[in-house]
Amino acid sequence: MTLDVEFLKDLCLAPGPSGFQAPAQEIVRRRVEAVAKVDGDPLGNIWAEVNPDGSPHVLVVAHGDQIGLIATHVDERGFVYFDAIGTVDPQLLPGHDLVIHTKRGPVRGVVGRPPTHIIPEGERGKAPPIGEQFIDIGASSQAVALERVTVGDPITFAPRFFELSQDIYCSLALDNRAGVYSAFRGLELYAGMSGKARLTVVSSAHEETTLMGAKALAHRFQPDCTIVVDGEFTSDYPGVDAKRIGGEHKLGGGPVLARGSAGNEPLFWLSMEVAEAEHIPVQVRAFAGYWATDGDELAAAGATATLSVAVPMRYVHTPCEVVCGEDLEAVARLLAALTRHLGEVFEPGCFVPRSGPLS
Ligand SMILES: [Zn+2]
Repeated sequence: MTLDVEFLKDLCLAPGPSGFQAPAQEIVRRRVEAVAKVDGDPLGNIWAEVNPDGSPHVLVVAHGDQIGLIATHVDERGFVYFDAIGTVDPQLLPGHDLVIHTKRGPVRGVVGRPPTHIIPEGERGKAPPIGEQFIDIGASSQAVALERVTVGDPITFAPRFFELSQDIYCSLALDNRAGVYSAFRGLELYAGMSGKARLTVVSSAHEETTLMGAKALAHRFQPDCTIVVDGEFTSDYPGVDAKRIGGEHKLGGGPVLARGSAGNEPLFWLSMEVAEAEHIPVQVRAFAGYWATDGDELAAAGATATLSVAVPMRYVHTPCEVVCGEDLEAVARLLAALTRHLGEVFEPGCFVPRSGPLS
């Protein structure tokens, strides 16, 4: 399978910082309506279901929100101040262009920065705290700016999506639209397999901030197992030590399966067996503690067997995240194959950890 570039591009370019995910969720809805019933909740989660009367129930969750900023104040000269939605590195902002998403449409802006010559020596090379940075939208006064921008408007990095080299893509928001892509491609594949399992695939809300989307899902669904799909750090570029990120992971190396912490050991081994049978190469990431994704919340609040299947990704949480198309398709194939296999081998209690892998 080759990457459906247009679907991935549409997902990445639809703005959706946590709390403002609707445009991104709309792309998902339009895509999967043809093969599955789509539903949602007031928090912004949306999900699609295949084989609703089947068993076991497999829940796949990929967060559909992205990091961003939110307008907090417009000063008397018309400059827009902001706060971060999620973990945003303040160094990535000065000198860059952004988009403020307003009721009346997008407003372009640039994060102002004085020439380095006039910055006091001790402050050169360092980014000001986010609360001191500002966006210039070219307004001549506060009143003029407020005609275009409202306090509370969400802000994203300027849109970009391009192929760096064959099958290697760079964009903003690949964390986690790459995961959303794979999760719903997996649903499309599974829909054609006539498997026994019920599959619900969710594009969740609020992962980058509060995990409240996952909390709500844990209350709503009582699945037999949960698979979380997100981006995973790679160690294949300068400055990253494999020993510090739980293993060696690279673009093009296939899905990254997490082992340890919130993950269910029998489900992990079952997924390894399925990957081998399907000739899908995988990489393993060791987790000593929290995943820091929806997975922690879904495992704990739902008491469900949980697996993390991730897309290897360079430069996570920058405006230039990078993925390999082949990995996205491999994650989709693994999700579909694993769901079909669970329909064959699942029996109550099979995920209660015992010594040795599930046979
Ligand atoms: Zn993520």
